[in-house]
Amino acid sequence: MKLIDSHTHVQLKQFNADRDEVIKRALENEIWMINVGTNRKDSQLAVDICDAYTEGVFATIGQHPDEREVFDYDWYVKRGQHAKVVAIGECGLDYHRVEPHLFGEERERQIELFQQHIELAKELEKPLMIHCREAFSDVKSVIKKEIADMPTEVPGILHFFTGTKEDAKTFLDFGFMFTFGGLITFNREFDEVLRYIPKERILIETDAPFVAPDPYRGKRNEPSYVMEVARALAEVRKAPIGEVCRQTTQNAKSAFGI
Ligand SMILES: [Zn+2]
Repeated sequence: MKLIDSHTHVQLKQFNADRDEVIKRALENEIWMINVGTNRKDSQLAVDICDAYTEGVFATIGQHPDEREVFDYDWYVKRGQHAKVVAIGECGLDYHRVEPHLFGEERERQIELFQQHIELAKELEKPLMIHCREAFSDVKSVIKKEIADMPTEVPGILHFFTGTKEDAKTFLDFGFMFTFGGLITFNREFDEVLRYIPKERILIETDAPFVAPDPYRGKRNEPSYVMEVARALAEVRKAPIGEVCRQTTQNAKSAFGI
């Protein structure tokens, strides 16, 4: 196996016309994938897709902080029994779109939802797949309180990491891993943090269908394009591409227990 796309959403409607082709295209190139759930329906679809392939397709189940449906804890406990569910999320905090006058109430709602995912992760003994946008300080304080009880060796994965070196340091101390996606192929803002995080803690992702890497910018993203992210990472870290592929794959396997 060459690469693992550690955070993607092939279950979304953007792939309704050619989902099987997209998945096979990746698998034929030895690219495995983790389809990340963002609500109940979407988590179920991600789990269903795993069953259609003998290897290389995994799922996570959870509710994105932007999703407003009632969190059905028991439903998630049941779905989480599936052998190919490898993490809990996409969960976390996202303050990007919150209107200032609603901030207090929305922050409280999101933190409560996030905490339910942490409970779930503890109960199912799986790592967290965390989405954090403009909310690093709150994510840190929530995790800090819970970290001692987190059951997995890698307690969480920070997806699409956009934090500072200081943020990275805190989460490195927590034992987290970090994923980077298409952004690093065209935005040089993250080079310093990419060099700062030890190679044993970096994963690569596409977040497909969103944020396609160069040279596919503006198009629909897909798991096969994770190769472009690996190339960018190799370039920034001045590491051989073969080593980046090997290391990120090994990291993903240990983070997700696959
Ligand atoms: Zn995502």
